[in-house]
Amino acid sequence: MSRRAQFLEVLGIPTEWVPRERKDALAEAVPEMAAVQAALPAVEAPVAETAVPVAAALADPVETVPAPVAPPVARAPVAPSLVPASPEPGSAQADREAGIAAMEWPALDAAVAGCTACGLCQTRTNTVFGVGDRQAEWMLVGEAPGENEDLQGEPFVGQAGKLLDNMLGALGLARGRNVFIANVLKCRPPGNRNPEPEEVAQCEPFLRRQIALLKPKVIVVLGRFAAQSLLRTTTPIGKLRGTVHTYEGIPVVVTYHPAYLLRTLTDKARAWEDLCLAREVHDRAGAGA
Ligand code: SF4
Repeated sequence: MSRRAQFLEVLGIPTEWVPRERKDALAEAVPEMAAVQAALPAVEAPVAETAVPVAAALADPVETVPAPVAPPVARAPVAPSLVPASPEPGSAQADREAGIAAMEWPALDAAVAGCTACGLCQTRTNTVFGVGDRQAEWMLVGEAPGENEDLQGEPFVGQAGKLLDNMLGALGLARGRNVFIANVLKCRPPGNRNPEPEEVAQCEPFLRRQIALLKPKVIVVLGRFAAQSLLRTTTPIGKLRGTVHTYEGIPVVVTYHPAYLLRTLTDKARAWEDLCLAREVHDRAGAGA
């Protein structure tokens, strides 16, 4: 079974109907699509009632055809509310960030575990540092721990985590093997509310250091909040997809959060397109896995 077929199967999409002209466009845009093109049914007719409405999801060319890998685009307009203010040189915050930027993995791990830099320390059960291979070429970044993650101290557990693991498997990756998974925030916002800018400002230095230590070949950002935080933009996720962005010089590909994909059937096939783009970016970087 092809990786694409595997992926669609784990997403619960038994049959994918794609108009011939759309298949041609996708194959041209993403070389890996060409490999699976033959496996797709040559369907010219409208989507069958029993078929998953992937064709409908593919109807918008801006949304569904991943752009060929291109030189990194300029960052989208900055969203002031999401951008952590740069600390004053010589301030306590500047010293804190400089200290974090010099930490190796064990010190960074301990610093997160004992962190009280924002109010989320008062309501968390566990910090969620991140999990995976610290030599990985792939990094996945989500938003913040949810209830299960807070209880277990690990990112992406429960149903969303299972889906993420299956998505990784379809790419030939596995949790703990050539991929590191982390969140923008290391503590759970109460009630899963959106993180506050000040919380992001306090916590982002940890993620920045994780990325600097890991030096991944590609970062896959999961979900709107993580994408907008990392890329410092308010651009909707639908417009951030399909383009290669950069964070600290590392290519970034944006896709949907697994929890969202569990609820939104029509966007599941798009996630596969995003992962194909990420795979292409990774492979073009001369990486091995
Ligand atoms: S969310 Fe981040 S900055 Fe806030 S207490 Fe937790 S680890 Fe510290």
